[in-house]
Amino acid sequence: MKKKDLDYFKKLLNHQLEELLSQADDTVSGMTAPKENFPDPTDRASLEADRNFTLRIRDRERKLIGKIKDALERIDNGTYGICEECEEEISEARLKARPITTLCIECKREEEIAKKARGL
Ligand SMILES: [Zn+2]
Repeated sequence: MKKKDLDYFKKLLNHQLEELLSQADDTVSGMTAPKENFPDPTDRASLEADRNFTLRIRDRERKLIGKIKDALERIDNGTYGICEECEEEISEARLKARPITTLCIECKREEEIAKKARGL
C-alpha cells in the first residue's frame, strides 16, 4: 500500500479511536457519578438494567478499541491491508468501509459460510 494511503487510514483509525475513547470516558464518569438513593425496588431494578446495558456497550467498545489499535500496529509494521488468510491485498473499498478488517472479502465470505456450517 502507498504511503499516502497508509497515512489516510492511520488518520481515519486514530480519529475513530479518539472518538471511542472520549465516549468511554463519558460512560465511566456516568457510572461513577454519585447516584441518589433509590429506595423503590423498581427504580433499583431499572438502574441495574441500565448498568448491565452500559457494561455490555463498554465490552463492545473495548473490543473495538483493541481492534483499532491492532490495525494501527499493522500500519506501523507494514502488514496493514494484507489479508491474514490468503495474504493478498484487501481492496481499498473494503478497507474504507471497514478499516479494522484483517480479511479480504473472499476470505471473509468463506469464514461466514464456515460459521454458518458450524451453526454459529
Ligand atoms: Zn483473503
